[in-house]
Amino acid sequence: MTEHERVVHARDDEVGLQAIVAIHDTRLGPAVGGCRMWPYESEADALKDVLGLSRAMTYKCALAGLPFGGGKSVILGDPRRDKSEALLERFGRLVESLGGEYRVAEDVGIGTADIEVMARATRYVAGVAGGQHASGDPSPFTALGVLEGIRVAAERRLSGGLSGLRVAVQGVGAVGLELCRALHAEGARLVVSDLDAGRTRRAAERYGAEIASPEEIFAVDADVFAPCALGGVLDDVSITALSATVVAGAANVQLAEPRHGDELHRRGILYAPDYVINAGGVINGSGEILGRYDAAASRREVLAIGARLGEIFERSAVEDRPPARVADAMAEGILRARSGRRSRRSPGW
Ligand code: NAD
Repeated sequence: MTEHERVVHARDDEVGLQAIVAIHDTRLGPAVGGCRMWPYESEADALKDVLGLSRAMTYKCALAGLPFGGGKSVILGDPRRDKSEALLERFGRLVESLGGEYRVAEDVGIGTADIEVMARATRYVAGVAGGQHASGDPSPFTALGVLEGIRVAAERRLSGGLSGLRVAVQGVGAVGLELCRALHAEGARLVVSDLDAGRTRRAAERYGAEIASPEEIFAVDADVFAPCALGGVLDDVSITALSATVVAGAANVQLAEPRHGDELHRRGILYAPDYVINAGGVINGSGEILGRYDAAASRREVLAIGARLGEIFERSAVEDRPPARVADAMAEGILRARSGRRSRRSPGW
């Protein structure tokens, strides 16, 4: 596991901005990754989050075959209360000052409209709604990749398709709700939870989902557990409570610690490594960054997530190794191969 190349802390009291940008690894290309705005309890929590998220982006880009490295940023604050155009523009200036080392996109608490405001101050954005090669909201593409991942996992572990499958979706925001729509269209049955009661109601009204409390969602009777909220949700307590035999969802950094991937494997629960199954958004955004966005090509590349996961599941079965370990080894192999061809940046980055 490689260390981070660069971590930038920024503060501007005039606009109420406190932010951290983490660039994990740029051996494959400039770092890409979303910006998360969240009311962290402490700066230490925010730092831990951004370090883990940016590392996951490195592995995500490597396995998706993208010419990008891993980065991520966090803005400390409540997006509903603390977000302002001045703050977003100031954050855009911070991204601009990194000279293209890091390209920012959407994440929890930051939507397409916010990226448009950042774009007034920086060229280094992805996921804008309008203009040449704009790739728009990444969430539907992320949901599409997750749907394919669930399909492949269900065929492997549950010997069946999506119709009649019972899926517990934790978090019905941008990706989770779209995933519910797609699963419902394929005949799956849904149980959902969210901290926001309006969002679970919406899933119930539109897609006939049952509603569970955030505490109950792990234990509800389901074939698949799809984490689509925040990270670190698979820990000793939640894994013990799980009734599902497949875990496949969009959230980044789902394992509280790497050993929890081993524990899922030990219990016979098939885990789709998060950065493999949730790569649809960055795959879609890559066309915009490379200046050749094509929605149909994006869709084809996102659908290939299913085959990539299938290969990981197969290796995992043959080697009796947890899928998360197999994916890590594959990504690290790609990064090592690149190190041999291109020297690392000089120290100080
Ligand atoms: P979002 O903010 O639109 O939705 C997240 C939802 O989770 C919200 O409705 C929130 O209320 C809910 N939530 C938070 N904590 C919860 C809890 N403990 N229990 C139940 N619900 C809870 O975010 P999103 O864009 O849908 O992203 C969801 C996850 O997928 C995040 O982890 C994100 O990093 C990851 N992801 C998103 C994309 C993308 O394209 N948007 C791409 C890759 C990964």
